[in-house]
Amino acid sequence: MANYRIEIDLETCIGAFTCVDVYPELWELGKDGKAHIIAEGVVKEDGREYVELNDKLIDVEAAIQSQNVCPVQAIKITKLK
Ligand code: SF4
Repeated sequence: MANYRIEIDLETCIGAFTCVDVYPELWELGKDGKAHIIAEGVVKEDGREYVELNDKLIDVEAAIQSQNVCPVQAIKITKLK
């Protein structure tokens, strides 16, 4: 089992929503016009939010794809040790 950190920079996000198209179980369209993480335990800070999830809870391939399709690199998926 591996853990992943899912992070979004909300100030960078331009609301293109390709991430939502790619992985709608992880990303949702917010009323603020930004994408937000759908998960338990999301930490919300000024201008960003993040969560750590294990690979049983997410589709890692889809998560990485959502990172790769973001036109402004607002999403960061990091494998944790
Ligand atoms: S693809 Fe990138 S810019 Fe578009 S909503 Fe998702 S995070 Fe924001």
